[in-house]
Amino acid sequence: MKAFYIDKPHSACVRETDIPVPGDSEVLIKVMAVGVCGTDAHLYLGDYDNPYPTIPGHEFSGVIEAVGKNVKNFKAGQRVAADPNIYCEACDNCKQNKQNYCLDYKGLGNQVPGAFQQYMTIEQRCVYDIGSLSFTTAALIEPLSCVIHGHDKARPDFGDKVLILGAGPIGLMHLQLCKNDGASVVVVADIKQEQLELASSLGADHAVFNDETAAQRYREISKDGFDLIIDCTGVPKVIENIVPFLANEGRLLFFGVCPADMRINVSPYEIYQRELRFIGSNSLKKTFHAAMRQLQQGKVKTDCLIGDRIELDALPVFLKAFAEKKTKLKTVVYPNGLVD
Ligand SMILES: [Zn+2]
Ligand SMILES: [Zn+2]
Repeated sequence: MKAFYIDKPHSACVRETDIPVPGDSEVLIKVMAVGVCGTDAHLYLGDYDNPYPTIPGHEFSGVIEAVGKNVKNFKAGQRVAADPNIYCEACDNCKQNKQNYCLDYKGLGNQVPGAFQQYMTIEQRCVYDIGSLSFTTAALIEPLSCVIHGHDKARPDFGDKVLILGAGPIGLMHLQLCKNDGASVVVVADIKQEQLELASSLGADHAVFNDETAAQRYREISKDGFDLIIDCTGVPKVIENIVPFLANEGRLLFFGVCPADMRINVSPYEIYQRELRFIGSNSLKKTFHAAMRQLQQGKVKTDCLIGDRIELDALPVFLKAFAEKKTKLKTVVYPNGLVD
């Protein structure tokens, strides 16, 4: 079978390897669709302390090909997706339902081989039956699970005014959840006009081009500021500059991933005096099911979030372009040929 490898930073290729054999509690999955994520680009660029060579890819769906001898809940032929966070469910943190800090954590596509290959294995406890959901839509369960995790921590109240920074696939998922949740006004800001048009078509009340005139637009739209601001840019300067636009008692959700060594300049007095709340959101935790249901019910639209649809052989070129921010929307890879 074919697998996509990053051999070392800035060096990737597709080559032949053996089909993996599932362990006793694992399933073997024929991978049908995989979304390309920022994490994959970071691995390509060498931003993480990760062993190489590595097979990235963690937003995927497929069909079960075979199961290990202790697997009871799945059988060959089932259409599935999986939570790529492999928690031990046995350590002290897992026992406190803080699985994101699992002491024996393994991330699919980081510490263990990921989904950019024709067949892969994963622990049965991570696997979910997707029913009739299309493979492409099911590849978006994982990013939506992360969005729901963040949303659960900073959920808008009815009537809240929300500002979302960044109109990529993640920002546009947040937009839809905020609208569904009863926010009165949702503003989306970006520096790409095309993305802003997409935001408007998905229900954004205002789409703001994020240049030097944006501040004035924010004040016109809501002179008292925003109850909830969701950063999906991961750009420290953008976050620093948006704090004055929080309403009193406003919440700022840090969703985009900033570089680890960066700092922002914020007045602690302002946080105290205006009772602001800064909320972090890292990955997902037990929100996979919720995301799957949202997609099955059509509550979150994802078709318009998909950009290029490519086969595995094209991935070395595409991942490089993606890392250079030259691709649009969510690229989906089909390791066993194009499907819905
Ligand atoms: Zn991802
Ligand atoms: Zn654990």
